Amino acid sequence: MNEDEATMTGVPGRGRKMANQTTSIGNRRLHPSTLMMGHGYDPTLSEGALKPPIFLTSTFVFESAAEGKRFFEGVTGVRPGGSEGLVYGRFNGPGQEILEDRLALWEDAEEALTFSSGMSAIATVFLALVKPGDVIVHSAPLYAATETLIGRILGKLGVTWLDFPAGATGEEIEAVITAAKTKGRIAAIYLESPANPTNALVDVEAVYAARAKVLGGEDELPPIIIDNTFLGPLGAQPAKQGADLVIYSLTKYVGGHSDLVAGGCVGSAKAMLPVRMMRNTIGTITDPHTAWMLLRSLETLELRMSRAGENAAKVCAMLRNHPKVERVGYLGFLEPGTRQHDIYTRHCVGAGSTFSVIVKGGEAEAFRLLDNLKLVKLAVSLGGTESLASHPAAMTHLSVPAARKAELGITDTLVRVSIGVEHPDDLIADFEQALDAV
Ligand code: PLP
Repeated sequence: MNEDEATMTGVPGRGRKMANQTTSIGNRRLHPSTLMMGHGYDPTLSEGALKPPIFLTSTFVFESAAEGKRFFEGVTGVRPGGSEGLVYGRFNGPGQEILEDRLALWEDAEEALTFSSGMSAIATVFLALVKPGDVIVHSAPLYAATETLIGRILGKLGVTWLDFPAGATGEEIEAVITAAKTKGRIAAIYLESPANPTNALVDVEAVYAARAKVLGGEDELPPIIIDNTFLGPLGAQPAKQGADLVIYSLTKYVGGHSDLVAGGCVGSAKAMLPVRMMRNTIGTITDPHTAWMLLRSLETLELRMSRAGENAAKVCAMLRNHPKVERVGYLGFLEPGTRQHDIYTRHCVGAGSTFSVIVKGGEAEAFRLLDNLKLVKLAVSLGGTESLASHPAAMTHLSVPAARKAELGITDTLVRVSIGVEHPDDLIADFEQALDAV
């Protein structure tokens, strides 16, 4: 569909009357950071309001019964491509659609969908794909709630899983996919990179090649799905390495102010269709107010992520030389010649601002560091304007069995840090005084 057609009829799967889908001026393709200010919104449709209003309505009025029928054919999947119009708040809404159009731009994706949380995005994707007897192949570690979802909740539905460590080689990944194939139909290959909380990177290109090698002869390949929350969309765009669906906790960098909970998923229209249908059915869509907050957040996404990344590089440079610090798990410090460094140079364009500090000693020393920070807040989550620090082994990953924690490197001495946009000298001073007190 060309841009003129899009303006007249709406993009398939997006329902509102819209204009301003233009993404270029003459031959010049506009950057996503520019397009965040106006893309997908026409002020003339909203009384001239410069910014999209929040449409607090649960349902939308059809111009005719035939139109209502047509819209429902799209929503229910009778006709592929999603709804041509706004129908009902569980399916779509103007603010959510503007948000989704803008989110898709960062990764040049055909479609994006937004959800009430990162976990509801992940759960909706899995529910759309799995059936009893299926197997999920995944990288490890995963965010603890994702592990719970796969292992315990989908487990109750008769779905099993096999994993490989983040950083596994192509042959290792092939071996796991081959073993999974003998257990049942592989419904999805699910990755998280960088992994929470270790920052370990997954070689998406190797996963893509392994899938082709082991399953290439099959009619339908299981989608490669990746949680890109830690680095994306600025520092990593895994669809370029072969991922079919890219998932976000928008609660983190995209929301960016620690004041909302939301999720997102981007991909091709084909890969997104079952996810859209499942979201329509179970209603895991973002609410209009959160969608509006995310539109505001997207306007400063590049500014915030760039500044936070610069700050993190400065803070990490201090931490790595501190006598009370054993090691800093920061992507910017990966050793050339290592497999992780190789993946980093092929997949990432920035080191992000979430990293781990492994202190010397044990849990007591890690807790003392956390308890003595004055500026950096002791809270789980990441990607906000303010810096946060937490203790994954005792907090976000508490439910992970001890043996698995040890296997994954989630130790008692690991403190996870997310650096924000404060002045870097103040952050360095805070870590110095807190480490002095350890
Ligand atoms: N994925 C990762 C990597 C996360 O760190 C988190 C939350 O911390 C989630 C998913 C879940 O996101 P949400 O809390 O928005 O449901």
